[in-house]
Amino acid sequence: MTNIDTYGRKINYLRLSVTDLCNLRCSYCMPAQGVKKHAHKDILSYEQFHRIAEASVAIGVEKIRITGGEPLVRNGIIGFLAGLKQIPGLKKLVLTTNGVFLGEMAGELRSAGVESVNISLDSLRPEVFFRITRGGDLNRVFAGIAAAEQTGFKHLKINMVVMRGVNDDEVLDFAALTINKPFNVRFIEYMPTLKEKNWQSLMVPGDELISRLSEQYQLTKVTYEALDGPAVNYQIQGAVGKIGFITPISSHFCQDCNRIRVTSSGTVKSCLFDDGKMSLKPYLENGDDASLQEALLKVAKMKPHRHALMSGEADNHLFNMSQIGG
Ligand code: SAM
Ligand code: SF4
Repeated sequence: MTNIDTYGRKINYLRLSVTDLCNLRCSYCMPAQGVKKHAHKDILSYEQFHRIAEASVAIGVEKIRITGGEPLVRNGIIGFLAGLKQIPGLKKLVLTTNGVFLGEMAGELRSAGVESVNISLDSLRPEVFFRITRGGDLNRVFAGIAAAEQTGFKHLKINMVVMRGVNDDEVLDFAALTINKPFNVRFIEYMPTLKEKNWQSLMVPGDELISRLSEQYQLTKVTYEALDGPAVNYQIQGAVGKIGFITPISSHFCQDCNRIRVTSSGTVKSCLFDDGKMSLKPYLENGDDASLQEALLKVAKMKPHRHALMSGEADNHLFNMSQIGG
């Protein structure tokens, strides 16, 4: 089945946030203190996530990304992934991680059938990384990346949230990572999630980054492939890897948005910035797969034309990225 929304977009990508817990506390994702966690009973079980995944594939989803919080901190994640991989019709199973546990888990992830991993990494300097993540050890992430490479994950994606005055002086260093390695380094515009005042001052528009990088390197645009994400990709002349720009703020890609999201507590969201009030729990509790599929179709139909976080059209409202999963 193909699921086309009200604006003609094919909805074929589901992001499942399997936990709101995380071993890091990135400054742009969680407050320093007082992180509100869901009670254990409110978090969906793996069986429930599996049913959502099956129902989604039945209505046209082809790619599932597992995210969090940090998905690798949830017990039993490998068995869960291996089960998802068996769903007939699912073309791509992928995962986003902060990389801290990849050193230990890369091999198991690959055996479970995960096709690719995205690793979030915002600095190549130990002290800056420590500050952004409020305590993270950069060496663990480097070890995780090395393990993922050795295990055979190809074209690893490294996602950097660029913040002016915090880490934007490292974009050339990040881009240089793609010269000799087949990494896809993607620069993500900072999104306001914590209701900060003057959040715009932290955000570095993708265009500015392209200009900065073009002063140093000759960049060529790379063509889009099916089921690729929203990044616009370029290649440094002679490089083996790619660099990408994800620009949800300066140049929204809503017209091509193909995704729905389910949070760790079962709320389904048709847009990262919507209020996401619809819970899948009633549909999971009644055990009826047809009504679960209908609920998911309804959410896809509710997908807004575009988000309203542009040019001061709306105030940023507080939302919890670690529960939604990015
Ligand atoms: N813990 C995993 C990780 O960090 O990759 C998965 C969950 S994390 C919420 C998913 C993605 O959201 C990460 O790439 C992270 O950088 C991104 N993210 C979180 N808060 C963000 C923000 N305020 N602006 C832009 N990206 C953000
Ligand atoms: Fe944790 Fe990922 Fe959020 Fe960082 S971005 S606090 S690693 S969930």
